[in-house]
This record gives sequence, structure tokens and C-alpha cells, in this order.
Amino acid sequence: DSVPEKIDYVFKVVVIGDSAVGKTQILSRFTKNEFCFDSKSTIGVEFQTRTVNIKGKVIKAQIWDTAGQERYRAVTSAYYRGALGAMLVYDITKRQSFDHVARWVEELRAHADSSIVIMLIGNKADLVDLRAVPTEHAVEFAEDQGLFFAETSALSGENVDKAFFILLEEIYGVI
Ligand code: GDP
Ligand code: MG
Repeated sequence: DSVPEKIDYVFKVVVIGDSAVGKTQILSRFTKNEFCFDSKSTIGVEFQTRTVNIKGKVIKAQIWDTAGQERYRAVTSAYYRGALGAMLVYDITKRQSFDHVARWVEELRAHADSSIVIMLIGNKADLVDLRAVPTEHAVEFAEDQGLFFAETSALSGENVDKAFFILLEEIYGVI
């Protein structure tokens, strides 16, 4: 995790999912180890990076965040271009955000490369008392669709690194 001198690979990863599920905070947790309590909704497409070691290789993860287009289902195909991985996020306390996951998978199948590695993320796992999506439902859906799956909390940091490392290792395995 130290600052490297030479980058072996750059992996583009897109973060998608309904608005307010915590996409921007997951990104901020992974790249800066920060959680921003008064964050505004994202303006303008942007990406953040973090350089990590995967199996002895220096990998720069270039992780793209949506610009609020998720509200209009208007994420453009340019956003998906060249993406090797996708973090598809829902909020475990918002049933609707999970119901929309199938739609997001369709989006990926339509616009992204067919070999894209997809990780389904149930975020806000810290809000246990408000849980609306049982873990088993998500596990079942993920197995059915061939997705990796993790529950995370951008707030506590639980499983965020782990989920990204699983995704990046899997991408490294398929390139
Ligand atoms: P985005 O629209 O998907 O990018 O969602 P944001 O990252 O902007 O987060 C939406 C809201 O959910 C904000 O108020 C965040 O503070 C909150 N949030 C994000 N992640 C978590 C989490 O893991 N736990 C809790 N309790 N709140 C979170
Ligand atoms: Mg956002």
C-alpha cells in the first residue's frame, strides 16, 4: 500500500446503483479512508484512485463515480467504456434500491464489456435495526446472476477494503 514508483496496471472500476445508497462515501472510504457527514450529491463525473498491491503487481484502481445521473437512469455508455469492474451498490435499509439492482445489471450487460467483473454491495450494514433486505435474498440473487457479493458500511469502514480487494484480485485473474 506504499506509494509505488511504477504502475503495472490501471484498472477502471465503475460504481453504480440508485441515488443515496452510499456510492460516493464507499469511494471516499476506499481511496481516502474518510467518511464525509455533510457530503453533497456528486456534481460532474469524476474518479478517484488508489494504488494497491495485488499478487506482487502494482495496480492503480481508477474508480469512477456517477454524477447524479443515477436519478434519471442516464448513465452514459462512455461511463462504462473500458471498465474492468463494477461495484453495484444498494442500501440494505431501502428495499427499492435492491429491487432496482436487476435493472442496473441489465445496464451493465447492455453497455459494459461482457467480461466485466461485478460486485454486488449491500451498503449501510451499520444500520442493523433498519434492515429491509435480508442477506440471504442478496446472496441468492448474486449467485443466480454470477456476481460477487459483500455487505459494507462506508460509515464504519467494515468490509469496504475487502470488497475492493476481492474485485481487483478477480479482475487481475481475468485480464
Ligand atoms: P450516493 O448518492 O450513492 O453517492 O450516496 P452518498 O455516498 O452521497 O450517501 C448518501 C447518504 O447516505 C449520505 O447521507 C451518507 O452520509 C449516507 N451513507 C453513506 N454510506 C453510509 C453507511 O455506510 N452507513 C450509513 N449509516 N450512512 C451512510
Ligand atoms: Mg454520489
